[in-house]
Amino acid sequence: MSVQTDHTPGTKSRPTHPNSWVFFEGEFVRYHDVHIGPMTHALHYGTGCFEGIRAYWNPGQEQLFLLQAPAHYERLHRSARILRMEVPYSTGELVDLTLELLRRNDYRGDSYVRPLLFKSAEQIGVQLHGLPESFLIYTSPFGKYVEIDGGIRCTVSSWRRVPDSALPARAKVTGSYINSALAKSEALENGFDEAIVLTESGHVSEGSAENLFLLKDGIFVTPPVTDDILEGITRRLIIGLIRDELGLQVLERSIDRTELYTCDELFLCGTGAQVSPVVEVDRRPIGDGHVGEFTHELQGIYFSAVRAENPKYLDWSIKVY
Ligand code: PMP
Repeated sequence: MSVQTDHTPGTKSRPTHPNSWVFFEGEFVRYHDVHIGPMTHALHYGTGCFEGIRAYWNPGQEQLFLLQAPAHYERLHRSARILRMEVPYSTGELVDLTLELLRRNDYRGDSYVRPLLFKSAEQIGVQLHGLPESFLIYTSPFGKYVEIDGGIRCTVSSWRRVPDSALPARAKVTGSYINSALAKSEALENGFDEAIVLTESGHVSEGSAENLFLLKDGIFVTPPVTDDILEGITRRLIIGLIRDELGLQVLERSIDRTELYTCDELFLCGTGAQVSPVVEVDRRPIGDGHVGEFTHELQGIYFSAVRAENPKYLDWSIKVY
């Protein structure tokens, strides 16, 4: 991700936080002291699973709030199970390690946490079973991942989403992000901000790294977990907010491509993307071509909840300091 490294095309990327603390193989060490061998299995075969967690800074309270950490670590355990891996810590232990790491790095701004469990065998040969594993947690300061204010322009990708029968999308697997990268680069290089990918059978699945919601006839609709989506944690929070705060219905059902062109509002959501309104798909404006009214309202409610400004949602986060 661009926040972690300084990317000048054609030059070697350098970490922007070489001195930050990282949790690696059971110890807190400095970033530049982590050494991963050239033959590492995961580097060659994509055999790892990971999470992306945000911590939000509340300047008034001078406090950092770690969002939904237990839910992320439970998903990491589920991803690992699919990959025949074992997370070496319980969810509670992982949350405590993350809090300790954030405190050591002394962040006083929005931050990102990236746990990674990977096959560390330094050997040739593709398999999942019987290989040693390593675990690390990396953190960094983090701002916006995609545009959230004016709305983004999307295109339906020529790439299809990885099917559960080949590379399960419900597991957050390092290697499957090739699918996201193919779609994202195609979209950006064709002048759009983000890609929307369809399933093999042609239903709308999700964005390259975000879940998707549309509003049609006063009802929000989002693809079901059986349409090759990552079962997003933000998606689950947003479903709750739509029902409880907007008083609207949410349907989890398959969505046709042309529903993207005819809906009244559309947005993408995820830990990185937060709530990102879509104002155009394949050169067709969504609604009147501006950020939707309900989407805008949801953004406001979501941001006040994640920054721990709304007493109703204090249980979404854990205080770091
Ligand atoms: N889909 C994909 C493919 C993703 O990478 C992400 C980001 N983790 C999401 C959806 C959103 O998931 P979450 O809300 O749990 O971050």
